[in-house]
Amino acid sequence: MDEIIRDDLPICTAECFANKKGRCIALKNVIDELCPFYKTEQQAADSRHKAEKRLWDIGREDLIEKYGGEI
Ligand code: SF4
Repeated sequence: MDEIIRDDLPICTAECFANKKGRCIALKNVIDELCPFYKTEQQAADSRHKAEKRLWDIGREDLIEKYGGEI
């Protein structure tokens, strides 16, 4: 199914995990071309896996969906 992306989201041209059809789904405002939140799809997946592992390690599996799950 095609993802519906709101047209009021900020425009971004970076090849970033949060760029969906030319719009940023992570931020309300795009800061500049050197966005500190830029991540590749692989970097974002690695961060999610690391967060999930940490939640398992500290016994907070209840938070995995919120902080370690897929976006
Ligand atoms: S997080 Fe930054 S680099 Fe990524 S899509 Fe949003 S504005 Fe662009």
